[in-house]
Parts: sequence; C-alpha cells; structure tokens
Amino acid sequence: MSIDTECLLSLNNITYTYDDGTVALADVSLDIYAGQRIAVVGPNGAGKSTLFLTMNGVLTPDCGVITCKGTTIEKKNRKLLRQTVGIVFQEADDQMIASTVLGEVSFGPMNLKLPIAEVRARTDEALAYMNLTGFKDRPPHYLSGGEKKRVSIADVLAMKSDIILMDEPTAALDGKNQSMLEDVLERLWQERKTIMISTHDVDFAYRWADWMIVLCDGHILAVGDPVTVFLNDELLQKASLKKPIMLEMTEYLKEKGLLESGVFPRTPGEYIKNHRGGER
Ligand code: ADP
Ligand code: MG
Repeated sequence: MSIDTECLLSLNNITYTYDDGTVALADVSLDIYAGQRIAVVGPNGAGKSTLFLTMNGVLTPDCGVITCKGTTIEKKNRKLLRQTVGIVFQEADDQMIASTVLGEVSFGPMNLKLPIAEVRARTDEALAYMNLTGFKDRPPHYLSGGEKKRVSIADVLAMKSDIILMDEPTAALDGKNQSMLEDVLERLWQERKTIMISTHDVDFAYRWADWMIVLCDGHILAVGDPVTVFLNDELLQKASLKKPIMLEMTEYLKEKGLLESGVFPRTPGEYIKNHRGGER
C-alpha cells in the first residue's frame, strides 16, 4: 500500500513552553499523511510526549499553526483535532476514568453519540484485539501496568481515529503482548490508519516504521526513512540512539562480502532471501 498524498495534519513552527519556563518544543514543523507509520525517537526529555499532547489538542502551543484536514485549529474547533487524533498516553493512569474495563473502552464511542449497536461492536472488537475480553468487569485501577496499557490502547482503537499516537506503548508490555501489539499495528495499517509511536526500542522502529522523526531538546533533529536515519552515525550520537541490531548485522555481512551492498533487510526472513547463496 502506498502512502496517500492527503495531508491529515500539519504543524507549522510550533513552540510549547511549560509554566516553569521549560521550552519543550521549539519551532517544530511536520506534515502527517494518511497511511504513514511513524516512529518518534529521541532521548528522555526530548519533547516526544509534549509533541503528542500538542498534536491531539491536550496542550495548546504558544505559537505556530496546526492544520487538520485543511482546517486551521483554533479554540472553537479543537474538537476536530480530538476526533482526528487519538492518543495512548505514556502514563496509562492519566487515561482511565470508568469503573470497569468495559465502561472504560465504551466511553469514547458513547461520547461520539454512535448507535448503541455500533458502540458495542467497536468495544468488543477493541477488547478482543487487546486480549481483554475476560477483563470486561474488572476495575481498571486494579490492573497491572501492562494490563492498564492494553486497556488504554483498546480505548483508542474503539475511537477509530484517523491518526493514532502511542507514547512509548511497548515499555510496559511483556513479550507476548508486544507481539500482539505489532499484530494490531499491522491491522491498523491495513485499515489505512496513520500510526505514530514514540519509542526507545530502535529494533522495533527499524523493522516497523516507514518514516522517522528524531527529536532532541525540543527540536526536530532529522526526519527520514529508518535506513537513512540509522546509517547516520553522527545523528545517532547526537540523539543518544543505538543502532538497530539488524542494521549492525547488515553492515557486518556486507563487510564480509556476504550481502549485496544495496539491500537493507529489516527482518530475519529478509536476510535469508538476500544472503548470498541463500534461498531466493
Ligand atoms: P520526552 O517525552 O521526550 O521524554 P517530554 O515531552 O516529557 O519529553 O519533556 C520535554 C521537556 O519538558 C523536558 O525537559 C521535561 O523536563 C519538560 N516537562 C515535561 N512536562 C513538564 C511539566 N509538566 N512542567 C514542566 N516541564 C515539563
Ligand atoms: Mg515521554
């Protein structure tokens, strides 16, 4: 599937300063298109969470312009931003409001004033996607960190927003649930959703993203496809990023003459296809 040319969300020269004077975003400009898979990387305190909160309208920038589906966002039409951009907060507790998991996940679709059958269908689907069907009657506040995270992801899935932001979603998840999340991301991509994920997991970013944003000290240090970003050693050092293991392996095999120079496998399966003398 190719990336659409429809620009869903545009940030132009956005600056955000917290009350204590910390400038968390400085002159940030970005265009987000339908169907993109974007990884946002950068050190602690780079401004990733602030960027996400600004993109969804939780925070209002000091200056700069946000355009959503061609409409300039102001106070009076911030609802358009909230409807277009769903967010999974870094802290799952910030998101929980209802007394049961079922109530929690159905809250958003209910607020959209959808027919009750549609609310039920969306809620059931989101719970099933996140392996939470058995948790319907549990109070979200008594769940473990990873279970809460799954509920907050289900919350956003049920909203079916065009753009889904996930702020470090994998950090609290065990291996099985990380794989489950990657399956869900695949389905969302098939549905042409735009997904933007902040993460410290460079291996995940390398195999999953088609576009990357590198943030540092509130500035965009670089944007580009994962191969270009991760081949730039100077950039990696500036942004305190590790090199993905797949790319390290690729460079090693090329040095040994075991891989053609133009290929950049992102998964073990792709190595086997490209390995000299391997199956084709
Ligand atoms: P990241 O998500 O990349 O770790 P954040 O967006 O959370 O970065 O933070 C960006 C900068 O803003 C950091 O310097 C952080 O200390 C500061 N910051 C974050 N939240 C607040 C807040 N509520 N009040 C003051 N400063 C904040
Ligand atoms: Mg953060």
